[in-house]
Amino acid sequence: MPIHPADIALCLAPDAGPGPMGGDDTAGSVPVTVPLIQTSYFAFPTFRALVEGLTAEHRHHVYSRGRNPTVEAAERKLAALERGEACVCLGSGMAAISAVFLGLLEAGDHVLFVNHVYGPTLELAAHLRRFGIEHDVVLDGSADAVEAALRPRTRLVWLESPGTMLFRVVDVAAIAEAARTRGALTCMDNSWSTPLFQKPLQAGADIVVHSASKYLAGHSDVVAGAVISRAELLERIFHRSLMLNGGVLGPFDAWLLLRGLRTLPVRMVRHEEDAIRVARFLEGHPAVARVHHPGMVGRGGTARDAPPGDLRGWSGLFSFELRRATFDAVATVIDALERFRIGVSWGGVESQVLSPEREDGAGLAARGLPHGLIRLSIGLEGADPLIEDLGRALGRLL
Ligand SMILES: *Cc1c(COP(=O)(O)O)cnc(C)c1O
Repeated sequence: MPIHPADIALCLAPDAGPGPMGGDDTAGSVPVTVPLIQTSYFAFPTFRALVEGLTAEHRHHVYSRGRNPTVEAAERKLAALERGEACVCLGSGMAAISAVFLGLLEAGDHVLFVNHVYGPTLELAAHLRRFGIEHDVVLDGSADAVEAALRPRTRLVWLESPGTMLFRVVDVAAIAEAARTRGALTCMDNSWSTPLFQKPLQAGADIVVHSASKYLAGHSDVVAGAVISRAELLERIFHRSLMLNGGVLGPFDAWLLLRGLRTLPVRMVRHEEDAIRVARFLEGHPAVARVHHPGMVGRGGTARDAPPGDLRGWSGLFSFELRRATFDAVATVIDALERFRIGVSWGGVESQVLSPEREDGAGLAARGLPHGLIRLSIGLEGADPLIEDLGRALGRLL
């Protein structure tokens, strides 16, 4: 399924909101980009007007720790792309994730994590045990396994699909349905797919979070996050989390995010095509044991005809396992790569490489991850030079 044409139009438009964006040019001309409103607070005409504004800071421009017009333009666009009622942007993906936890959970609640979930999300959950919030992780993402793991106090089911590091796809609709019948909310970290390739709210999820630092901003120059949901849930998150923890997105970073979003459709198409070509190459390479790309069904470079479940496409982040599954082999291959930046994060225009492998071999078993795993974020260089680079680097192990 190609990217929805309405989504392409939304990404290209300067603003998803109604009407022109201000300006008093008498000929009616308007800027083609969103104005950067770099202000910390807003001045009111009278004290009474300020008092009125303070009674509903989620609706009024009072202070940029609450609302800011440039940030709101990014929020309107992300809400529209996810087909959600509203969006709140925050200063990072983790700020968005903690805003959901702190805004919606209380002592005695239980969170169920399904599939491989971003490491710091689980670290935050471990930290919240000190505040009486419990959690479990089920790596088996079948609806039956999720159903069996739900507890009477499960308030939130937290999903990543495709999951972190191994990119396994789970049935979002079935899991959201199981959660709803037991009175729990479902939240999906949709950073991998972006709203162009998957719309979890339409599959029944209640909340979507993004690390906008990855594909949404897309140029490795912004750290940002977003929560998209119903207005009622977001109002709680706004008042209890955003305004009190203060993890806001600055206007300039929101402006960069808006600029990034305008090229999201072309970037995602290119990431998808080139990542599949690279994944196929790796599947046929003798130094590679396995490729973890949701589009690959087995050895021999076969790709699925269509993405599974609700996915419209496959993004450019996937992993593979070396046959020689040691720290030294992982380091040899990574250090031999010339076209991949060695670092954290992903989703930029430049290709990037990372591994969870550590010299003492620690931590992987507890996370359900194999040894010898290397994760690639395929950038926009074109598949051929990347394949050549990988072939040369993997040749060191033969
Ligand atoms: C990076 C990432 C996050 C955290 O986002 P930051 O913007 O780095 O805080 C959350 N979820 C996933 C899947 C990520 O890759």
